[in-house]
Amino acid sequence: MEWLIIGGGIQGCTLASYLVRQGGTDPRNMVIVDPHSSPLKNWLHCTGKIGMTYLRSPFVHHLSPSPFSLESFAKKENDPSPFTGRQKKPKLDLFNRHSLTEFEEAGLMNSWKQGRVTGLKKRGSSWEVTLSHGEIISAKKTAIAIGLGEQPYWPEWARELKDSRPDRIFHVFDRDWSIEGLSGPVTVIGGGITAAHLTLALGKHLPGKVTMVRRHPFRLHEFDSDPGWMGQKYMGPFQRERSLHKRREMIRSARHRGSVPRPLVRSLMNAEREGLASLKQMSIDDVTETPSGSVILSDRDANNTCESETVILATGFEQTPPGMDWLSPLIRDEQLACAQCGYPAVPDNLEWCDHLYVTGGLAELALGPAARNISGARRGAGRIVEHHC
Ligand SMILES: Cc1cc2nc3c(=O)[nH]c(=O)nc-3n(C[C@H](O)[C@H](O)[C@H](O)COP(=O)(O)OP(=O)(O)OC[C@H]3O[C@@H](n4cnc5c(N)ncnc54)[C@H](O)[C@@H]3O)c2cc1C
Repeated sequence: MEWLIIGGGIQGCTLASYLVRQGGTDPRNMVIVDPHSSPLKNWLHCTGKIGMTYLRSPFVHHLSPSPFSLESFAKKENDPSPFTGRQKKPKLDLFNRHSLTEFEEAGLMNSWKQGRVTGLKKRGSSWEVTLSHGEIISAKKTAIAIGLGEQPYWPEWARELKDSRPDRIFHVFDRDWSIEGLSGPVTVIGGGITAAHLTLALGKHLPGKVTMVRRHPFRLHEFDSDPGWMGQKYMGPFQRERSLHKRREMIRSARHRGSVPRPLVRSLMNAEREGLASLKQMSIDDVTETPSGSVILSDRDANNTCESETVILATGFEQTPPGMDWLSPLIRDEQLACAQCGYPAVPDNLEWCDHLYVTGGLAELALGPAARNISGARRGAGRIVEHHC
């Protein structure tokens, strides 16, 4: 095998598409290992769960190396409204169909291998991965494209509630709850785009029974980092910065965490006016349960409270580097460089060591604040193809 990609989400599939379309790699010489039965399952699950209809990113951000591929695809489909707004943000179902078509047309369906990587070792000039069911696959070049999607963030109070009442609290991306399964009042925790979409979806399903609780006033931003990060305006100084600690600080201050585009806030305000949803600002310090089984969330002085039957966390993901359960032995054995924050220290070409690459979230100290997004996937894939094919 020439190429092995670990993770078949947005990041892994974009890299696979670039390697075939731009790098001339034969898809028969590539394997993409992912625990799911087919590509992009995590993306489809997360975006589908919250009832999001349009992406936050513009139409030129997708899996194909050809920037206008999604636009041509939309024309062929004769969709009268494929994009929204000045930034031409694509409809989610159009984007999804385009992604899977791109994957298929690149001849990658047979490269898919369902399995979870539990170990990665260097053997001579090859890389050897071990899957959870014991199978071993060898490849000349390996790319790690796993995201943070498997590490949902649970605040302390939420973990305590989960221990005592597992049926009352979920993370939005958990697979053991569904909007259709809810009947009583629901509290959505979070102030970002995921919480906003979910609140609107729940407002339709359970009118008047959903409250969105956020710690801070709405943070209005069109994108989750300034578009200046797409080009040299901000990436230039970022790449010239040699200190990884300073790069981490640059990423931290560039990311608009927990932010929402203005039109979505308008929709939330309309939903509140129409009595579909309530919007509340408070921090949660305590949780109690009533004899009837409801959950009461309150702030430190119990001045603010919120009672509901179910609590859904839209609190994002743990920011620690993913995959460390199986990456740590590799880092130790191959003495791979990591920054103080635990993330790989990789050069601009994303090669961590001989023929071993990282992309997506794991490569953010080289790719900048948009690394985890679709634009970051394109940048990462472009760099790997440019330097190594
Ligand atoms: C609701 C939502 C909306 C978003 N909207 C946008 C948007 O509009 N525009 C944008 O640019 N970005 C958006 N993002 C951000 C980002 O593009 C997505 O999170 C994207 O899915 C990240 O891709 P990924 O490949 O890193 O992660 P994932 O989609 O999570 O894929 C990673 C894959 O790796 C697999 N994996 C993990 N560990 C292993 C292992 N040990 N072995 C094998 N496989 C493994 C996982 O199971 C998973 O299938 C959004 C994110 C969310 C959550």
